[in-house]
Amino acid sequence: MGPFDYVIVGAGPAGCVLANRLTEDPAVRVALIEAGPDRNARKAIVRIPLAMVTFMAPALAFLGGPKFMTWFASEPEPGLQGRSMPLPRGRGTGGCSNVNGQVFIRGQREDFDGWRDLGNAGWGFDDLLPYFRKLERFEPIADARAGRRVKFGKRPLAEQIDPTLHGTDGPVNIAPMRSVNKLAYAYLDAAQLAGYELNPDFNGPRQNGIGLYNFTQKNGERVTAEGAYIDPVRHRPNLTIVADTEITKVVFDGTTATGVAWKRGAETGVIAAREIILSAGAFVSPQLLMLSGIGKARELARYGIALVQDLPGVGENLQDHLDITLEYRAKSITPYGISWKALPRNVLHMLDWLFRKRGLLASTTADGGGFVSTDPNNDRPDVQLFFCTGRANTQAASGFTGHGFLMHICQLRPGSIGRVALRSADPADQPSILYNFFRGESSMDVMRAGIRLARKIMAQKPFTPHLDAEIDPGPDVESDGAIDAFIRERVGTLFHPVGTCAMGSGPEAVVDPQTLRVHGVSGLRVVDASIMPTIVSANTVAATYCLAEKAADLIKRDN
Ligand SMILES: Cc1cc2nc3c(=O)[nH]c(=O)nc-3n(C[C@H](O)[C@H](O)[C@H](O)COP(=O)(O)OP(=O)(O)OC[C@H]3O[C@@H](n4cnc5c(N)ncnc54)[C@H](O)[C@@H]3O)c2cc1C
Repeated sequence: MGPFDYVIVGAGPAGCVLANRLTEDPAVRVALIEAGPDRNARKAIVRIPLAMVTFMAPALAFLGGPKFMTWFASEPEPGLQGRSMPLPRGRGTGGCSNVNGQVFIRGQREDFDGWRDLGNAGWGFDDLLPYFRKLERFEPIADARAGRRVKFGKRPLAEQIDPTLHGTDGPVNIAPMRSVNKLAYAYLDAAQLAGYELNPDFNGPRQNGIGLYNFTQKNGERVTAEGAYIDPVRHRPNLTIVADTEITKVVFDGTTATGVAWKRGAETGVIAAREIILSAGAFVSPQLLMLSGIGKARELARYGIALVQDLPGVGENLQDHLDITLEYRAKSITPYGISWKALPRNVLHMLDWLFRKRGLLASTTADGGGFVSTDPNNDRPDVQLFFCTGRANTQAASGFTGHGFLMHICQLRPGSIGRVALRSADPADQPSILYNFFRGESSMDVMRAGIRLARKIMAQKPFTPHLDAEIDPGPDVESDGAIDAFIRERVGTLFHPVGTCAMGSGPEAVVDPQTLRVHGVSGLRVVDASIMPTIVSANTVAATYCLAEKAADLIKRDN
């Protein structure tokens, strides 16, 4: 096979964007190599938005979710009473976009301006806005009919959107949830009574406020990176997709990357290319660099790996979002759930999705959103809220039956810095992942304050007809000490690892911000969530699509 101009390792959102954009030039030959299966976007488990719960629930594995997942685990975390955190990643063409929660939020202007100010010229918010617009088809303004139909408050949503901040003809369709559960409106009312303003568009001029999320969905179905970027260009003769194939390392001639070593079952081989681009995600991209001889010289020597380039930042700077869930039992059956009383309605929901792509199956249940600040002296949000109109609580594993709802409190900039390291020189061994949550600089104040403000919202009158009781952690967990203990016991990540091959020019930087080439070697770049120097204050797929769009331009210009 080959040789190719580019081999892209990993077909997640970043890899799919690159494969599409680099093959726009018919003279450029690209191979996209993916560890998992190909042609996923039309499979029901991927298309149905609600089916995301099946990927996370071992009891629902018979529905076929496991083949789209790779499960990693953190080391026992000293700040979490030695608890190891489960860390799922998506697998197959589309990567995590096949299994994720579909929430589409870019992040705050300050996040990207922060990247720029760290020495990454060209990566500030104003530099990236054209790329956000390039990737988006923001349905409320792209489709005038949809725009008139969807209302926020009493007015059409489209009238409340700043069109200069959104794209209308990009590959990724962004849409409000098609069927919003009535309880989400109780949440909006309750939040206002608790003193928070409504925000019709978290990707608008300001992120602060309470509102309803937009999703990577179209016509009540999930939009994946494969569906958006690969399926429309599969026919290009200069694009070769190789699925079910693991890359085990980058092959070098001196300090020039010349190809990648692959493994499929017992078969192995090498694919040659002029350039290699690692897009295997924030856990595997740094692992592949280290397995290939790029990393801390001392560590590599420990595992008998021949040094190609001493680069101490590889695998360092791991960042993620922290998330804690409050769970409520309902006294009405307004929230989604499984019960005899709700059986006829649930049957109708299934028919509704089959015939109209609406109803519960078109929902992820995370209808309600919010960005708030817990700091009275600074209104930059440090907490994100997810109000979920069903009770699939993965943190407490409390089951699916009955009716209830959840409030997730996510700390947007936890301040903890972790690392990804090798466990051995064997590519089959998963890397060692340590987050260091609640150690060093990171305190529990923001999460604790976030829980208190979420409870204030839930205590408002609009919830009275629905809320029976908080069942996890329960009202007795009230003092600082009790809340902190609950957080340490339950807190999870939002599955947004970034930062482990950070761009920059200092001694800890891994890739050059102007080319995304790995420092000190040639023919090798990294383009995925791992190059973010700091985590964005939002779910990470939008920023990943955006950085890959920009990367494609930088790569085209560089050659
Ligand atoms: C359960 C879950 C829910 C999430 N919810 C949201 C959400 O609602 N909104 C949001 O914005 N973000 C969400 N995210 C995060 C978001 O999906 C990621 O930030 C984004 O997908 C990162 O893209 P990526 O291209 O960097 O890597 P990935 O999506 O991780 O893709 C990497 C790809 O590389 C492949 N690969 C890995 N190793 C190899 C190898 N050795 N050889 C070949 N291929 C390899 C993998 O199989 C995978 O397909 C969620 C993630 C998860 C897991």
